[in-house]
Amino acid sequence: MSRIVYVNGEYLPESQGKISIFDRGFLFADGVYEVIPVVNGKLVDFGPHVERLERSLAELKMRWPCSKVELHDVHEELVKRNHLKEGIVYMQVTRGAADRMFNFPQDIHASLVAFTQVMALVDNAHARVGIKVITTPDIRWLRRDIKTVMLLAPVLGKQEAYEKGAQEAWMVEDGKVTEGTSSNAYIVKDGKVITRPLSNRILAGCTRRALFRLSRDHGVEIEERLFTPEEAYAADEAFLTSASQFVMPIVEIDGKRVGGGQPGPVTRKLRKLVLEEAQK
Ligand code: PMP
Repeated sequence: MSRIVYVNGEYLPESQGKISIFDRGFLFADGVYEVIPVVNGKLVDFGPHVERLERSLAELKMRWPCSKVELHDVHEELVKRNHLKEGIVYMQVTRGAADRMFNFPQDIHASLVAFTQVMALVDNAHARVGIKVITTPDIRWLRRDIKTVMLLAPVLGKQEAYEKGAQEAWMVEDGKVTEGTSSNAYIVKDGKVITRPLSNRILAGCTRRALFRLSRDHGVEIEERLFTPEEAYAADEAFLTSASQFVMPIVEIDGKRVGGGQPGPVTRKLRKLVLEEAQK
């Protein structure tokens, strides 16, 4: 069944959803995006995602394509029109279309596209057994706190992981893990969760934010500090978070088994807490 997608004010069959070849998202990756999970037909964490979108737009001096209320309506409408029970809504805002020039064109209208994608989020087969990750140099720019569509480094990192039989790549800078190509990175040692503090070196994950709140409420300690791949190899557990994976156990890093090669207790507890909240 063909999806209904949203393109600049119109709901269209996906084959008719088109944008200009002059769109700056296409020409310069001059755009930002969000991925919002849908569970039981309901949007999860819409507020934090829109808050982050607002920040991304402000940091790039990009205009809003519509009001926040309209943006929410677009999301609800796409879920409804596509009868989406479980999956994601992807939205992308770009600076708009104009003759090609590097500096910002005057009188340009931001462009908004959004579409749904069906995915098994709650009953994800990978979550039962855990995934494998590799490490790779972090070759991205220095504003990773902005969720831009400039994703070539993550694309190459993820491809490298797949070619090596893994599902994610943890990027490494100055000997320390920054984050996954599309996720935040965590290890667990002696019952304590360790993850990198927020800065312009990583994206402030919305799932990370939910994880912090739920951990505090349920007595799981989190230490924010940098860690090395070697420390991760020797960790009791490892996991990642992202909007489409929630909490995903990691059982192998660079070919080395972590925590006996099975999803650990802290990771399983956190996945359960995050999923319970998403299903409310
Ligand atoms: N870091 C990066 C680089 C990402 O692309 C993502 C996913 N968008 C995340 C972290 C996790 O963020 P979230 O939990 O909001 O999906």
